[in-house]
Amino acid sequence: MRTVVERDGGRCVWCGRPLGGLVPATTEHVVPRVKGGPSWLENEVAACRRCNGERGHRTVVEWLEECERRGWEPSREVLVRVLEQLQGAIAERGGQRRARPYLDGQLRRLRKRAA
Ligand SMILES: [Zn+2]
Repeated sequence: MRTVVERDGGRCVWCGRPLGGLVPATTEHVVPRVKGGPSWLENEVAACRRCNGERGHRTVVEWLEECERRGWEPSREVLVRVLEQLQGAIAERGGQRRARPYLDGQLRRLRKRAA
């Protein structure tokens, strides 16, 4: 878990709060298991316990938009980077057919919103 938290800059990707102390760090699957997301490090992001628990079944983009509505500071950059790395890992290792369309769709929407 520490690897993921450090990679993601020590902050919750959804609300931007620094992790540790009163803001317990967790990791969660960017592409949910129910959508075929693999149990790989590349499919994990650092999130605080609150955000991890509250995301529920929302997609990456849906939850990102909800976080912004709440005035939080989700890190689109980290999310794009993690999704791109996951895409690369899948291309290298193969498989993950169920996760691919979800991943591609979310990445496309994230990039479009960034432009
Ligand atoms: Zn959070």
